[in-house]
Amino acid sequence: MLNTLRKIVQEVNAAKDLKAALGIIVQRVKEAMGSQVCSVYLLDPESNRFVLMATDGLNKRSIGKVSMAPNEGLVGLVGTREEPLNLENASEHPRYRYFAETGEERYASFLGSPIIHHRKVMGVLVIQQKERRQFDEGEEAFLVTMSAQLAGVIAHAEATGSIRGLGKQGKGIQEAKFIGVPGSPGAAVGTAVVVLPAADLEVVPDKHVEDIAAELLLFNTALEGVRTDMRALSAKMATQLRPEERALFDVYLMMLEDAALGNEVVKVIKTGQWAQGALRQVIGEHVNRFELMDDAYLRERASDVKDLGRRLLAYLQQARQQTLVYPDNCILVSEELSPAMLGEVPEGKLVGLVSVQGSGNSHVAIFARAMGIPTVMGVVDLPYSKIDGIQLIVDGYHGEVFTNPSELLRKQYAEVVEEERQLTQGLDALRALPCETLDGYRMPLWVNTGLLADVKRAQERGAEGVGLYRTEVPFMIKERFPSEKEQLAIYREQLQAFHPLPVTMRSLDVGGDKALSYFPIKEENPFLGWRGIRVTLDHPEIFLVQTRAMLKASEGLDNLRILLPMISGIQELEEALHLIHRAWGEVRDEGVDIPMPPVGVMIEIPAAVYQVRELARQVDFLSVGSNDLTQYLLAVDRNNPRVADLYDFLHPAVLQALCKVVEGAHAEGKPVSICGEMAGDPAAAVLLMAMGFDSLSMNATNLPKVKWLLRQISLGKAKELLGQVMTIDNPHMVHSTLQLALRNLGLGRMINPASNIQA
Ligand code: PEP
Ligand code: MG
Repeated sequence: MLNTLRKIVQEVNAAKDLKAALGIIVQRVKEAMGSQVCSVYLLDPESNRFVLMATDGLNKRSIGKVSMAPNEGLVGLVGTREEPLNLENASEHPRYRYFAETGEERYASFLGSPIIHHRKVMGVLVIQQKERRQFDEGEEAFLVTMSAQLAGVIAHAEATGSIRGLGKQGKGIQEAKFIGVPGSPGAAVGTAVVVLPAADLEVVPDKHVEDIAAELLLFNTALEGVRTDMRALSAKMATQLRPEERALFDVYLMMLEDAALGNEVVKVIKTGQWAQGALRQVIGEHVNRFELMDDAYLRERASDVKDLGRRLLAYLQQARQQTLVYPDNCILVSEELSPAMLGEVPEGKLVGLVSVQGSGNSHVAIFARAMGIPTVMGVVDLPYSKIDGIQLIVDGYHGEVFTNPSELLRKQYAEVVEEERQLTQGLDALRALPCETLDGYRMPLWVNTGLLADVKRAQERGAEGVGLYRTEVPFMIKERFPSEKEQLAIYREQLQAFHPLPVTMRSLDVGGDKALSYFPIKEENPFLGWRGIRVTLDHPEIFLVQTRAMLKASEGLDNLRILLPMISGIQELEEALHLIHRAWGEVRDEGVDIPMPPVGVMIEIPAAVYQVRELARQVDFLSVGSNDLTQYLLAVDRNNPRVADLYDFLHPAVLQALCKVVEGAHAEGKPVSICGEMAGDPAAAVLLMAMGFDSLSMNATNLPKVKWLLRQISLGKAKELLGQVMTIDNPHMVHSTLQLALRNLGLGRMINPASNIQA
């Protein structure tokens, strides 16, 4: 049975469109169950009726014509009750409805199972039989399992069809929504440009050649071609990224070096293999190695190698690169977006990015944040190869992509984009103004940084300090651990850029989905594994070098604060403090005279919420990592689009935890900040201010919006709103209460972008 199921699903998966998929379903299920009829009815959202879409057994002419409302017929009953229905004699059932055109009267027994995808009823799968008999338990179980397995396939085929105007009823192009994870905040409306792999390495055959010298020459010319392209791309990005951040292009160049990939290919060519075959072999081996490592970061490396391989192959095949036409308002879409792809878009045209693979911590997302380009990552269900040239909406706040948006939705998002544009224009004026509420309360707004490019944007937007400098970012774009000296230089630039404002440097927070290519961590359950402080406490040499570099970098500036990630208890904190003191002592012994900087702890593990007072007693400040705290409190992977709708920092449990943290920190007389994405959500920021957070730290893109909103409200009103919200037990109600209250205050305009758009 399992085999039959698997085979049917495989066949359906390979179908070219929805119609073909449904045709296979009815035929195969009928065969497998030995029934006389199998039909699929799909719910048409426009008419809200279950329409007969495919049948094997009933009159084919009734396809597309017979339909019933949810309160009609047996199919309607299965759909509304969301339960299977097994009847010995269908016509005796009070809900039975007779359709002359189907020839249904000949069939007595009826077994129907709802097709449900992500809680949504998509349709009903029915089998019918002439003789009067109850289908047995095994048959019922088979049909239910079949429907559950087919639901995803049908949803995918439907979405694909809707994109190209093959909607369920052939009614034309329909709007569809695809869920991913936020990569970089902001919204964009534009035209999809799909970047497909330029050349397919996998299909290159082996070929033996006699003229080895000619192949070597070909390969060297290709190498030179790609090298030139990479240098040109890097130069083009020079206006947006600092040299250190363009190091990724150097990584590409390094991989091409004679001693690395290039040399390996040459060796294979020398065995008599033609250049293309040799390239396929070498790239394939490297990609396999990386992909087998089953680690987010290393998979990323695999995609870099693949990208390089394709570029080289394009030269070898003299096809050069895919010549793309980039329209204005271009939204770049690819299965695996690479930073190099961004560089190819002419300046001023790129408004959004969509990647089918990857997470919020992929290279391309880090770059997109620094460049302020709205991005959605991990849109796994998007049939990306079919969407070139169509209209798209990218909602980088919520990690959603809309294909063929309706006029209304496009208008709503266009307003969000326009508001953001106006706000950016008015930035200069806003930048000089304090973040002060109507009743005179000052709320310090800080910024989160990683790349040096973030510094410029932060300063343009009037940040009052750095609440979180993610030191893993410079580590991630390197090929080995940066030395103490290299780190010192990078950190000094951050500290100097903001001086005299404080810069909070977090100790290396790798693990989870943030791994280093040169320090692989392979785990079944990375978010519950070796992460953050756990890694650095096990490797004091890494921790000490980093701390020393931070301390030395702060000489004469004295604006450094050190922050410890992923602390789950007192012992970890004490060990880390011990190491920091040791590093401080060592640095002073070397003659560098610097005061001990303030040290803080991130509250991002539920255990730390409960021990907040004990932790606060031992440090100078606290900072809440609401991204991880939400993930761990709700047990929802922050990078998994399948559960993205459960990931909600406005969940009452998260709000209660936050209140407890503020209360605990203040009871110990210590300031507490928050540096997760939540702080950059204007509506959430109102609540956080009311809770008593001493500073909010966010990405530079959102800072002006938060400032604008907080300047339009009084602390008194914010507290009143918090009081109201804290009595609510349901996250949806929290959202709607918050939105309504702000709209009633005339502040709907800036509530986190697109949050009031109902799609
Ligand atoms: C957080 O968890 O909220 C946080 C700020 O850290 P990161 O997103 O880098 O894990
Ligand atoms: Mg975190």
